[in-house]
Amino acid sequence: MTNTFNIITLGCKVNQYESEAVEEIFKARGFKKKEENADIYVINTCTVTNMSDRKSRQMISRARRDNPDAVIAVMGCYSQVKPEEVSAIEGVDIVLGSRNKEEVVDLCEDVLQNKKAIDKVLALSETKTIEDLEISNQEAMTRAYMKIQDGCNMYCSYCLIPYARGNIASRDMDSIKKEAKRLSENGYKEIVLTGIHVASYGKDLKNGTSLIDVIEEVAKTDGIERIRLSSMEPRHITRDFLLRMKATKKACDHFHLSLQSGSDDILRAMNRKYDTKVFKEKVALIREVFPNAGLTTDIIVGFPTETDQNHQETMDFVKEIKFSKTHLFKYSKRDGTKAADMKPEVDGNIKRKRLKELEIIEAKIRRNFLKEQIGKTLSVLFESKSDLEGFKSGYSTNYLRVNVKADLADNEIRDCLITEIKNEELIGVLL
Ligand code: SF4
Repeated sequence: MTNTFNIITLGCKVNQYESEAVEEIFKARGFKKKEENADIYVINTCTVTNMSDRKSRQMISRARRDNPDAVIAVMGCYSQVKPEEVSAIEGVDIVLGSRNKEEVVDLCEDVLQNKKAIDKVLALSETKTIEDLEISNQEAMTRAYMKIQDGCNMYCSYCLIPYARGNIASRDMDSIKKEAKRLSENGYKEIVLTGIHVASYGKDLKNGTSLIDVIEEVAKTDGIERIRLSSMEPRHITRDFLLRMKATKKACDHFHLSLQSGSDDILRAMNRKYDTKVFKEKVALIREVFPNAGLTTDIIVGFPTETDQNHQETMDFVKEIKFSKTHLFKYSKRDGTKAADMKPEVDGNIKRKRLKELEIIEAKIRRNFLKEQIGKTLSVLFESKSDLEGFKSGYSTNYLRVNVKADLADNEIRDCLITEIKNEELIGVLL
């Protein structure tokens, strides 16, 4: 009889990537994926907020209820940070951390065969190396995520990730090249380079290799037409980096630069390693080399000690920079971080009010950026049916959704002339 498994994933893109890689190993070993009543449950947890811990625990209990006899393995950031707490949860058989997640498959097979004899397996590994997880096929058939790096040593005051994911570990270039080739053979045209702190790629390698070398190597892969970065750090944006990116002709003009706050006081309290002046200079550099670049960002609203004045500075800065998309988050306290002890905290109603104010600004700026695209030609990778009847949609290199009235195959890259905006998305015609 075929054994079955299910993987439940919480948290970020890196977790999703790792879960998909583990799923491929299970399938290669003859296991079948089953949503309910599976023989094995793997819960890939997150610990980024107090809420993430709670959700992770709920998922473990749900798996237990679904099949009380199942093997339950818990891995990821929550179990890395609190292994004892996770192992004490009723029904948990295996506890792994945030690295070497592929080991979960062997461990699950062992426990499945000897469930009665094995009490609990604690298999936390050192967070110094990076596992060689590989993915050939991902859910969406057009854009493939490739993990090139793990860990972070930036220690922002609100973040537990450096504790949960450990030190920086960069993936070996040969392994990256091999995976890029395999993804291309499987029909992918776009690769998104992901990691916990992608800009730190190479810091641990001591051979001078850095992120730009990865971009250049992946760009040499036949069939891969686009390379996108999941995020960047202002410090790592240099003219040389941008020019080398541009020279590949495959690197997308889309930059995700997490701002988090437009107030220098708050950036200091957050232990971010830049100020607004540096941020502004880097944005100018990006726009000089990539004039129509999409610039996306994240902002945390209501960080402890944030005053009305600090909030005003953020609003002014957001207006000045004109991001193409701003993801807004209300600050949520995370036990164990420095920020959790910072006082005064911002009242919940004030946080909501500040968030609303920024939402209004963000919508206006985004719309202006969309308007600026009218009359321009954008290269679009088509990937799905549009919400608009008879239309097909995809993303431009600068990460805007474009819809065209055409009957196109998935995964086609076409130039489109942008004609109008509808439902906050672009409408274009094929050229
Ligand atoms: S850069 Fe800061 S927010 Fe991002 S993972 Fe590292 S410590 Fe966390």
